[in-house]
Amino acid sequence: MAKAGWQVIVLEKHHTPGGRARQLSADGFVFDMGPSWYWMPDVFEHFFNSFGKKVSDYYQLKRLDPSYRVYWPGNEAMDVPADYEALKHLFESIEPGSGARLDQFLKEAAYKYEVGINKLVFKPGQSLSEFLDIDLITGILKLDVFNSVSKHVSKYFQDARIRQLLGFPVLFLGALPQKTPALYSLMNYADIKGGTWYPEGGMYSIVNGMHQLALELGVQFCFDHEVQEISIEKNTAKNIIAKHSGELRTFSADVVIGGADYHHIESALIPEAYRSYSEDYWDKRVMAPGCLIYYVGLNKKLPNLQHHSLFFDTSFDVHGREIYETKQWPANPLFYVCASSVSDDTVAPEGCENLFFLIPVATGLSNDSEALRNYYFDMIMERFEQRIGEPVAENIVYKKSFAHSDFVSEYHSFKGNAYGLANTLWQTAILKPACRSKKIKNLFFTGQLTVPGPGVPPSLISGEVVSREVIKSYQF
Ligand SMILES: Cc1cc2nc3c(=O)[nH]c(=O)nc-3n(C[C@H](O)[C@H](O)[C@H](O)COP(=O)(O)OP(=O)(O)OC[C@H]3O[C@@H](n4cnc5c(N)ncnc54)[C@H](O)[C@@H]3O)c2cc1C
Repeated sequence: MAKAGWQVIVLEKHHTPGGRARQLSADGFVFDMGPSWYWMPDVFEHFFNSFGKKVSDYYQLKRLDPSYRVYWPGNEAMDVPADYEALKHLFESIEPGSGARLDQFLKEAAYKYEVGINKLVFKPGQSLSEFLDIDLITGILKLDVFNSVSKHVSKYFQDARIRQLLGFPVLFLGALPQKTPALYSLMNYADIKGGTWYPEGGMYSIVNGMHQLALELGVQFCFDHEVQEISIEKNTAKNIIAKHSGELRTFSADVVIGGADYHHIESALIPEAYRSYSEDYWDKRVMAPGCLIYYVGLNKKLPNLQHHSLFFDTSFDVHGREIYETKQWPANPLFYVCASSVSDDTVAPEGCENLFFLIPVATGLSNDSEALRNYYFDMIMERFEQRIGEPVAENIVYKKSFAHSDFVSEYHSFKGNAYGLANTLWQTAILKPACRSKKIKNLFFTGQLTVPGPGVPPSLISGEVVSREVIKSYQF
């Protein structure tokens, strides 16, 4: 918007930029509070290129190798190599013939990535006519929209570990492989061919880069400004009232773009008569999971640890059902550990390790108590120690947890969601909450609850899509 000549003011509740991608610094440890996987480097490059800049003008990237480690049941662990030929060898050693089938699988995924990322995700989802594109229509079968990722993967591979490995990337989109359209096997292309990268200094380097770029473009940031109300006159947003240091401040704008959680803006900031979606509509949405997170500082290094570790040592199916169907606290959950200090000396004191543990859980769970958080921490710590092969709990010098109630209080998150709306077939493109209000003509929405969906790259694309919509509608 600033590049197009608009005067832009950002009203942000927190005292730093970043939102769910904020940073936590404590006792010499530096943690990325939310995202830790840097995938789709082309999307970040595209973002900075749009302003005549490059990613490397703001931060430096390195590709991780192995990309990540997976712990399977029993004593088995698998390092997923960055090198494609090495990965094919790994596949072959598990399932003869699967290396060649991976070539074919990725050829299809590459096509989906090309069409998905260059065409589909840039559609604002305002009308079906956007999709009347000859390439999209002729390619619809190849895009595999009506099949599921799990069926698609099963067609190529028999081994349960390979199937789970190829099903994992769509978890970023908030739904299980059984419920995610096979179009999203494009995520396998992103994983295997695009690679897993690390921005030096951590994921927060992206936020710092974007913030600096915005300042260079003249954007004004008002931190510690929590929006309380958007006043409406004749179907037009007039004033935005924000609380700052206990006082109310009023801002007026020609256009308001809401980047906070969609449900919060509709249910708490505008009068009920102007909401585009009812509470019943929101209740029926399939939300991406919530998260139980622990930020942990250790006073020693763990030599047997990779930067990213997936603990797939318990049943994926049972945990998936507990998240999406029975919506209960998990009995024996899968979890993920990020240790960016393995790749970066600047994020922990010398000789120390920073650990980020994440358990995906259903949204809207009650009883998010300290006792329950401790119970799950002890459970996963025991499994972690066993697989790492050394004591860890006794070396903890810093620990903080973050869960449902924190997502609600910190971000006004609907049902405590971490990643927004799941990318199921019925919540894709025009079936997502629209990026323009149906009742307030100058109110727009962006971020992970509208098009194109959850994740840092889609959220960046969402900003681009909505700014184009605003500029198209307001040619002053
Ligand atoms: C634990 C976790 C792990 C993740 N891992 C990954 C990953 O590895 N890779 C990846 O690509 N993605 C990941 N994601 C997803 C990704 O972080 C999000 O999709 C993305 O950051 C969402 O951006 P957003 O701008 O839509 O929302 P947000 O980042 O939530 O931004 C909304 C902003 O609005 C502010 N706000 C809310 N209400 C008000 C108000 N009333 N007044 C003023 N300001 C307000 C909030 O403070 C916040 O800054 C992860 C997310 C989480 C939570």
